[in-house]
Amino acid sequence: MATSTLTIDLDAIAANWRALDRMSDPTTQTAAVVKADAYGLGAKRVVRALAEAGARRFFVAVAEEGAAVRQALGPGPQINVLSGHMAGDTEMIHDLDLTPMLNSVDQITRHLESLPGHPFGIQLDTGMNRLGLEAEEWEALASLMLDANPELVMSHLACSDEPGHPMNEAQLAEFHAMTDGIGVPRSFAATGGILLGPEYHFELTRPGVGLYGGRPFVDARPVVGLSLPVIQIREVAPGEIVGYSCGWVAEQPSLIATVAAGYADGLTRRYSNAALLWDGETPCPIVGRVSMDLITVDVSHLRDVPRSLDLLGMMQGVDDLADVAGTIGYEVLTSLGHRYARRYVSATTRGQM
Ligand SMILES: *Cc1c(COP(=O)(O)O)cnc(C)c1O
Repeated sequence: MATSTLTIDLDAIAANWRALDRMSDPTTQTAAVVKADAYGLGAKRVVRALAEAGARRFFVAVAEEGAAVRQALGPGPQINVLSGHMAGDTEMIHDLDLTPMLNSVDQITRHLESLPGHPFGIQLDTGMNRLGLEAEEWEALASLMLDANPELVMSHLACSDEPGHPMNEAQLAEFHAMTDGIGVPRSFAATGGILLGPEYHFELTRPGVGLYGGRPFVDARPVVGLSLPVIQIREVAPGEIVGYSCGWVAEQPSLIATVAAGYADGLTRRYSNAALLWDGETPCPIVGRVSMDLITVDVSHLRDVPRSLDLLGMMQGVDDLADVAGTIGYEVLTSLGHRYARRYVSATTRGQM
């Protein structure tokens, strides 16, 4: 393989969506969160695969992302914008039939004045203190808002990846207090909320990271493979160094492979002297500093040095890598760079982009 290759398994994404869909009652709709270019994996291909699997509603962070999704899907599927109706977005929201989730009094005013009759949803803040109307605002505005026929009322959990966390039940109680009896479809659960159980599901769930193989959906099918070609191999004698700042010193005669990717490709310098690459099922430690375009790997123990080594694959998922860097799978995914050859794999379509 001549170039660093990111393989994205569209069948696995579809299977993960179906698995998360099966966890809730058949009357609960399962949407798909595809913000940040489908968590870095390419919204165009991902939303088509999800639509084929049965997804009918998609969530994006900002209106521009909604444009890409609308382009890929055509008319029909609903596209919700989590950041709501921001200044300057009115035309896009109208022309591309996006559904903003209104977060504030400002946004409500903007939407109802500029696009009366255009679909919208409402986001409520049940304790996360990030986005959405707070209880007092909602109390003052609810009857006015409900008269304008919102199509969805949602809120977001702050700690859903920790099942025992008291915040989950507190937010659930607050969501009930704010919304019971309103007669509008409600959404509360992202991936973590789906796993918390049926009382968190309401009429619509909106998983993101679980679709892409990340925690907390530990039963997810892995989605991403990342294979880095070996550019050069060299022998290093005891006492010799490898890489910037003499980041590693050989203690014994060693064989070092230099592979083609670095922090410019989203592979953080925190992997220096810490993360593993894999030759099949054999781990090979990164030695020395990760540089902008190159990583050096100790392959002394391999009988034959392969043409490429895997950073992501069956032996190491996005969360394993995240653990090494002290971050989360979400960040590993959304950091994946733009220099990789992206190969989308599925039973029906095989393509390069
Ligand atoms: C990102 C996001 C989601 C999806 O969360 P995951 O943890 O990736 O499943 C759902 N809802 C909101 C409001 C979000 O910001």
